[in-house]
Amino acid sequence: MEKQIILPENIELTEEVKTLYKDKDGKYYLSKEGAQEKLAMHFKCKCGNGIREKYRIFCDACEPPKKPKEIKEWDGKSMLYIDDRYFNDVEEIEEYCEDEGIDKHTLEIYICDGNYLSEVSEDYWEDVFAEDGELPKEIRVKLDELNKAIKEYGKPMSWSPSKYIAKFEWND
Ligand SMILES: [Zn+2]
Repeated sequence: MEKQIILPENIELTEEVKTLYKDKDGKYYLSKEGAQEKLAMHFKCKCGNGIREKYRIFCDACEPPKKPKEIKEWDGKSMLYIDDRYFNDVEEIEEYCEDEGIDKHTLEIYICDGNYLSEVSEDYWEDVFAEDGELPKEIRVKLDELNKAIKEYGKPMSWSPSKYIAKFEWND
């Protein structure tokens, strides 16, 4: 038996043909632009994976990006630094590892840079100089002497970790 549908009088239907866009998974989109926007890989990670979120730079596999560590040979003299602690030599590091139960092979040992006394320039007193003022001769002589002594002293007053990791080859 044929099904009868009775429409209220105020309903009018007109036929309209519209093009839809379908992706390979069978999903339909109303416009090509909309489909492209939805399906686009907005960015590509450096590894080649696509990234959907616009605010990201790396894909899941690559995030957080690892900065390559810079490694160099230790000169045997510079202070070494591990986790807020400074070490004079390898023996101290080995002791520390024993005390703390740390595997020394897993350590990242930073090489420190020395902080040296800087030479004193006459600019140090510029606030008290007259406009074209000059340092009195006898003071100038002493200043030169001081700077010579600082230069000759040549030893660091303290150490700060550099960005370099010491290259260590442990024997055991
Ligand atoms: Zn990636």
